[in-house]
Amino acid sequence: MADSTDPDHDGDTDPDHDGDTDPDDSTDGETVPDDDADGPDDADAEIPARLRENLYVVVEELVDHEGLLVALDFDGTLAAIENLPEEATIPDPTREAVASLADEPNVEVAVVSGRELADVRERVGVPDISYAGNHGLEIHADEYTVHPTASAAKDDIAELCDLLTDELADIEGVIVENKGVTATVHHRLVDDDEVPRVVDSVESLVAARDDVRLTTGKDVLELRPAVEWDKGEAVRELRDELVPDDERWLPVYVGDDTTDEAAFSLLDDRGLGVKVGDDPATEAPYRVADPEAVRAVLEWLHEYGVEFVAADHRDGSAETS
Ligand SMILES: [Mg+2]
Repeated sequence: MADSTDPDHDGDTDPDHDGDTDPDDSTDGETVPDDDADGPDDADAEIPARLRENLYVVVEELVDHEGLLVALDFDGTLAAIENLPEEATIPDPTREAVASLADEPNVEVAVVSGRELADVRERVGVPDISYAGNHGLEIHADEYTVHPTASAAKDDIAELCDLLTDELADIEGVIVENKGVTATVHHRLVDDDEVPRVVDSVESLVAARDDVRLTTGKDVLELRPAVEWDKGEAVRELRDELVPDDERWLPVYVGDDTTDEAAFSLLDDRGLGVKVGDDPATEAPYRVADPEAVRAVLEWLHEYGVEFVAADHRDGSAETS
């Protein structure tokens, strides 16, 4: 139980992550960027470099692009992870950083979450940005769209939630959350000995159906309609909707969990993937320590980063190669 609750999972490797880095830190050698940082088949490449030590990479990318699409996960990225999902809140300075960045010309900001769209939009509380809920099965960019197959699966999801609520009723701490087109079973508060029972129940229920599939995240099991869709598809959709057809915008994706890997994979070498936290197993080439560091990145982009886009393209004296 207690071991699974490192709310901001800033870990112990960089306690003063906003300060200078400790040259004696044995992990530093592993975080130095190298040419193969985006080559996932190289063992060293699985350890992402610290973004703050490599902002020149961001500057170089910004100079080479005409705009910036920033897609952000919510839990563990904008907000610290809490024991109860309803307790997760975005700190006011982070909300302001999101809103300020989104106000810049040639910048679009989207929040991409496993939460229901209405839920994440209310929690972020910035009206004029885009949202993708349920891992992108619901998207509100210019308009609200729901994946048609997912929409049809709502009744099945509701039925499964009822079955699971009954079946797991005697297990303390389990939360079955119906999110409309998907559902999440939370077991962060469940006694370690009981977790396998939760997992078994969900797995056997889902195994009997071909219209629903199961994915896992941090202390959660997620039931989704059996459509090929993930956060990578969500980012692709957002890019199609938000980026002008004839312009090259730099996509940036920031996330902390396994479901964010699909977005990191999509960006590959066409954008910047930033992993939040110390888990080295990621496709993202860069990482930051925790949600506070995410806020610092957003503030940096607003105060300095966007100028590099503007400098090259706003005044018509472009010098791009
Ligand atoms: Mg997350």
